Amino acid sequence: MRAKISSDPIHKRLLLKLSGEALGGDAGFGIDPSVLHFLANEITALNNCDIEVAVVLGGGNIFRGEALSKDGMDRVTGDRMGMLATVINGLALTDALNRSGLRAQVFSAAGVDGAVTRYNRDDADVLMKAGGIAVLAGGTGNPFFTTDTAACLRGAELNVDAVLKATNVDGVYDSDPKTNPNAVRFDRVSYDEVLARELRVMDLTAIVLAKEHSLPVVVFDMSQAGAMLEIAMGQPVGTSVGTS
Ligand code: UDP
Repeated sequence: MRAKISSDPIHKRLLLKLSGEALGGDAGFGIDPSVLHFLANEITALNNCDIEVAVVLGGGNIFRGEALSKDGMDRVTGDRMGMLATVINGLALTDALNRSGLRAQVFSAAGVDGAVTRYNRDDADVLMKAGGIAVLAGGTGNPFFTTDTAACLRGAELNVDAVLKATNVDGVYDSDPKTNPNAVRFDRVSYDEVLARELRVMDLTAIVLAKEHSLPVVVFDMSQAGAMLEIAMGQPVGTSVGTS
C-alpha cells in the first residue's frame, strides 16, 4: 500500500523530462492521444497543488539525429530534424494541456516562426510563476546534445527543485532489469556513482551538468498514475540521483 500523501509539497517547482518514445505509447512512435490525456491529468494534479511545472520534450518518437547519419546524412542536419521533432511533440502536449484548462505555452530553442515562441528563460519563468506550464522544445538548440542535457540545462536556468525523468522502468538499476532478473534497484544513488558505473540514467553530459548545479534528478515509471505528485510530496518513488 502506498504511504499517505502529506498536504505540503517539498518540491514547489519541477521540470518534467519526457522522452519522445513516452509520447508514442505502446507503439513507441508517433503521438498517442491517450498518453497526452494521461499527461494532462498528471500535470493538472501538480498544478492543483500550486507546483510550478516546466516540461522538456524529446523527439525520439519521430526522429533522432544519429539515425540517418549512420547512412551518410550530415549529423548537424539530422540533429536539426531531431530538434524540430521535439517542437511537434511540444505543440501536441501544449494543445492537450490547454484543452484540459491549463495555460501552457511552447518555448522553443529551435525557431519555427509563427508556430512557437523562442525560448527565453525570463518569459518561461514568468509563465511558471503565474501558474502556467512552460513546454520547452528544441532541446538546447545545438546539435550533438540530447534533450536529457536540455532538461538539466533548463532545470538549472529555471532553478527547479528537481528534474523528474520519466521512463518505462521504476528507477535506476545496477544492470538492465529487462535482461537481468537479478538486477538491483537503487532508492538513491550519487552522481559520482552514476558517472563511474555509467548507469543508464541520462547521458553523461546531462549528469555532469546536474552534478555541477546540485540538481536532483528523480527517475520514475511514467505509467504509474500519481507518481509525479507523490515525488513532489516527498514520497519515496523511483530513484533519486543526487549528492549522496
Ligand atoms: N537534439 C539536438 N540537440 C539537443 C537536443 C536534441 O540536436 O539539444 C536532437 C538530436 O538529434 C536528438 C533528437 O533531437 O536525437 C531528439 O532528442 P532526444 O534523442 O534527446 O529525444 P528522446 O530520446 O528524449 O526522445
